[in-house]
Amino acid sequence: VTKAFGELDLIQQIRSEQIRSQQIRASRSAGAGKRTRANSSVVLGIGDDCAILRPPCGHEILVTTDFSLEGRHFLRNIHPPESIGHRVLARGLSDLAAMGAKPLAAFLSLALPSEMPATRSARAWLARFFAGFNALARQYSVPLAGGDTSESPSPNILADIVLVGSAPAGRALRRAGSPICPARAGDALYVTGALGGSAAEFAALREKGRLASARTSPDKQKGINPHPHLYPQPRLAVGQALLCRKLATACIDLSDGLSTDLAHLCYESHLGAEIDAAALPIHPLAARAANADKENAPLALALHGGEDYELLFSARESARIPRAIAGVPITRVGRLTRGKAIELIDASGHPKPLIPRGWEHFRT
Ligand SMILES: [Mg+2]
Repeated sequence: VTKAFGELDLIQQIRSEQIRSQQIRASRSAGAGKRTRANSSVVLGIGDDCAILRPPCGHEILVTTDFSLEGRHFLRNIHPPESIGHRVLARGLSDLAAMGAKPLAAFLSLALPSEMPATRSARAWLARFFAGFNALARQYSVPLAGGDTSESPSPNILADIVLVGSAPAGRALRRAGSPICPARAGDALYVTGALGGSAAEFAALREKGRLASARTSPDKQKGINPHPHLYPQPRLAVGQALLCRKLATACIDLSDGLSTDLAHLCYESHLGAEIDAAALPIHPLAARAANADKENAPLALALHGGEDYELLFSARESARIPRAIAGVPITRVGRLTRGKAIELIDASGHPKPLIPRGWEHFRT
């Protein structure tokens, strides 16, 4: 790597991308006649040895970190750079959403291979990566407050995201439920949005190649994300509403697939569960998975597909859960039970064990 693409240069480029992003945000807010509200939690951002954050009074700090590795979490020949930038941030935001937290700041570490030369191609890739990253960051007012850059020792791009968020002290949603209001047998289980869309879209992308499927017509159905794989929407508003309104007893985000993430929630809560197969909200892209071999049947995609980044939560049987929160449909899909068994109830009412076999990154 030449000097032109040294660390300082990369940081400069990231910084100027950030400034450009802030300007876009400011001009959009001004255009809409809104007061520009900067995220006041960042006292000091990029440029010093550390960032300085000031969490809201009476809040606790939540921190999550996620790798996004080329070949494991994304493929350069399938995912456009904008999608990679979006997905890197969405993974972290989804973890904050699962705990009802508000994002305060993001920290991004990037390693680019030297085989991306010190030419326009690396710059162009980074610009598009940050276009995707910043668009999502603006949507949720999450400033990029720091990070690190390095030359990757492998031919792969490596990204690591750290998200810092906050929640009122003692109130963050947990897999085992809150200490004040823990999950218990008999609680109903709900999911946000629709399931299986990410795996279905990825399968389609892989089959047709990027260019063909980028032109698939977006689904007009209300509250349905037309690109659940390329541009998943972290459910921050839902998580925060569940926390504020004290609706959820336990919560997790669906990153690895319902079967696997439900097992995590049950394990932490020391409970079992029943899922009603007929009740699962299946994403139109998964429902359309036509010449379905067993692996790719709509139900299998919804149960095991993974990367939907929806929320799975439990609530008291008596709690009034709205049909939608912040425009996102909420569907009741089952209940928590005593014991350890996790079962899928099929359309004819027969239970069978629901084995966790969610997404384990790319099975290439
Ligand atoms: Mg998670």
